[in-house]
Amino acid sequence: MRLGALEAGGTKMVCAIGDELGNVQDRASFPTRMPEETMPDIINYFKDKGIEALGISSFGPLNLDPQSPHFGDITTTPKPGWANYPLRKALADALGVPVGIDTDVNGAALAEIKLGAGKGLDSLVYYTIGTGIGGGAVVEGKLLHGLVHPEMGHMLMRPHPDDPTPKGFCPYHDACLEGMANGPAIEKRWGVSARELPPEHIAWDIEAEYLAQMCVNTIVILSPKKIVLGGGVMHQLHLFPKIRKRTQELLNSYVASDTILKDIDNYIVPPALGDNAGAAGSLLLALDALNH
Ligand code: ADP
Ligand code: ZN
Repeated sequence: MRLGALEAGGTKMVCAIGDELGNVQDRASFPTRMPEETMPDIINYFKDKGIEALGISSFGPLNLDPQSPHFGDITTTPKPGWANYPLRKALADALGVPVGIDTDVNGAALAEIKLGAGKGLDSLVYYTIGTGIGGGAVVEGKLLHGLVHPEMGHMLMRPHPDDPTPKGFCPYHDACLEGMANGPAIEKRWGVSARELPPEHIAWDIEAEYLAQMCVNTIVILSPKKIVLGGGVMHQLHLFPKIRKRTQELLNSYVASDTILKDIDNYIVPPALGDNAGAAGSLLLALDALNH
């Protein structure tokens, strides 16, 4: 089966051709500019490739209500030109094939549960900790949408006592996860690139505290069978043991699961698909669109 995948990001649009098993055969990347400039690149890439369906994992917020005439539109983004842009419709009209769409993190969650770290499970939460923070969830075998879609990156945090910037940097909320713990927040707090902070710097204890609070909140609300942490910041692999330990401390043995009490190393994990999760997730969304 020949399927198209689009990872729509704020800085680049990654287009790929692949199959229903998540194998990628061809890939191209275009910088994200105004829609009038960017969309022709995407359409030209897919036009003559003979795809049966297209799946999009996109930055948001998105309208994901399948009953809405605006299903698949980008909604309130500050990104110039893209607010209220009908991303799904524009590509469905231009390509004439079924087009599925979901958030970038839901796409990655789908890829990890079907093909990666959560294979065989029926629930999983995927977080990206990068330029932003976002979470996607599979619950009882289905991607979670709800009223709009989850915005887990904006959950509220209890500031670390040694955090010199305890309100963080989200323009909307004091002390929210993204404003406390995304890559740019680390850099604003310490005035250096996150890549250059040595592993023993207190910055990483503070970062691990927030990511552990995130895991605790996730566990008590959704009770997922696996939590996958990806994104640029998680390239700092020394964060994983810190986050696992602090998650156990904060839960204080309250959640009576051996998975958390004894096997947390296999519970809070890096993505198994690495940088391929986005493309694989989009291919699975294409397959889904074809089957509905
Ligand atoms: P995006 O979120 O834009 O899709 P990434 O997930 O790569 O892309 O996130 C980029 C952010 O991650 C940057 O803000 C940077 O601060 C941070 N980052 C990237 N690589 C590293 C690293 N090796 N160590 C720490 N932080 C990193
Ligand atoms: Zn916020």
